[in-house]
Amino acid sequence: LWELDTLESASDYLANLQGKQLHLHNFIDAQFSEQLFSESWLDSHNPRTGEVLAKIPQSGLSEVNRAVEAASKAFQSWSQSPRQERSDVLLRIASIIQEKRELFAVWESIDQGKTLARARVEVDRAISNFRYFATYTLHEEGSARYVDGQPSTLTYEHRSPVGVFALISPWNMPLYLLTWKIAPCIAFGCTGVAKPSEVTSITAYLLGEVFRQAKLPPGVMNIIFGDGPGTGSALVKSPRVRGVSFTGGTKTGIRIRRDTVEDIGKHLSLELGGKNPTLIFDDVNLAEAVPLAATAAFENSGQICLCGSRIYVHKVIYEKFCSQFVEYVREHYRCGDTIGPVVSKAHYDKIRTYLLQAQTEDATFLTGEVPTEIPEGGYWITPTVLRDVDDQSIVLREEIFGPVVTISPFDTEEEVIELANDNPNGLASILLTKDVSRMRRVGERIDAGLVWVNCWLVRELGTAFGGMKASGTGREGGAHSRDVFTNLRTIHVR
Ligand code: NAD
Repeated sequence: LWELDTLESASDYLANLQGKQLHLHNFIDAQFSEQLFSESWLDSHNPRTGEVLAKIPQSGLSEVNRAVEAASKAFQSWSQSPRQERSDVLLRIASIIQEKRELFAVWESIDQGKTLARARVEVDRAISNFRYFATYTLHEEGSARYVDGQPSTLTYEHRSPVGVFALISPWNMPLYLLTWKIAPCIAFGCTGVAKPSEVTSITAYLLGEVFRQAKLPPGVMNIIFGDGPGTGSALVKSPRVRGVSFTGGTKTGIRIRRDTVEDIGKHLSLELGGKNPTLIFDDVNLAEAVPLAATAAFENSGQICLCGSRIYVHKVIYEKFCSQFVEYVREHYRCGDTIGPVVSKAHYDKIRTYLLQAQTEDATFLTGEVPTEIPEGGYWITPTVLRDVDDQSIVLREEIFGPVVTISPFDTEEEVIELANDNPNGLASILLTKDVSRMRRVGERIDAGLVWVNCWLVRELGTAFGGMKASGTGREGGAHSRDVFTNLRTIHVR
């Protein structure tokens, strides 16, 4: 794959496989497991055509144990390695991905269905993940002080790497989200076993080659493939795994918490789902608000945990907003061109079920329709804008995670805060207004770990990333990632 960095060369390769299919292999102890260690393979499909794209090993307990063993062995020396060494290797990894930017973007686009432009943005963000933590790890932190009233006793806080981590990621931003875990894991002296989603594993496979070329010491980062209930679950439960950094659905997060509840010292960071509100007040400029709300709803076909999938608009501008929004969506979001298919048949079916429910409840489809039961070719769903959806409908309460958005009216500030917060999730929110005091008044009362005012998806990697309520526990980013991957002890010296 390594040389196939244009859509043409990748497509030719796939067309000439002649039924043999692309097989991925686990990367353990700096080696790809070339042997067919198991009879069990999973099919991963091309979302644009519905055809089988790759065969993924369904790693069983023995492969999981082999990867954990390699990571445990590597931890002995990696946890003691100079920070400069860790920083250097992270920078080498970043440079190799940078050189191979187009390779990663092309395969991410093919595998996940996202547009090539979107894939390039995410590859750049993956590179930033490595560069950011390469710098962060060099910071000297904390200082010693005398214990109050005891001038002969010094005290200081000391951090040490936790151990082997399970790093588990979802399919919507495969490379970006996996590297958001891998980079700090390596930076803070931990070792890991990374498991990407079985639906989108190709860029994780390419990462193995990056680690080899960057001379990341054997065992420091291992990559294994397989599904959640089999491979992921075995990994999380392994007693030698001392921490889990997980991004994915809330139900899986609950499962992982249950599976690890008795291992009290196991570090757990859970970044889960969202049903994020976009609040639009009557003082906005619609020419700015409409494109922003549409981008927040439909970027990556609505398959970003941070997408604004419930739009609330002040009643004074509601009708005008609806008609301008629909016009904008029709003009800017065309399947195949600016919007990709959804990732898999299972996900297509899930989104279809919600749209059938909307139809049954007599919601108004301003754009889009219920997709056909059998997808025609790939998993294409027309961007769908709904209004007249009941506040208590599952269409408005549950995460659909596709190109579907609802628009509802509100009257007062108090009412819209209540509507926004009347949801089990609390990941992100978007607030559009020109009123500076309202930005604070409303922004500080929304149940959301991330609040964007007059913008969306802006990230500063040092600040906290994560959600409230059912959207997760723990935060990642900068010092928050350091807290995930290190243990803290306070030392007193007389
Ligand atoms: P998912 O929970 O089905 O799967 C996520 C990962 O967990 C996959 O690698 C899967 O194989 C693995 N997994 C499944 N069951 C497991 C188990 N029992 N033990 C261990 N691992 C297991 O989620 P998905 O469908 O891949 O992704 C979509 C979800 O991810 C959405 O809910 C979305 O909001 C969420 N998400 C959250 C964030 C965030 O930062 N909060 C970011 C992106 C996506």
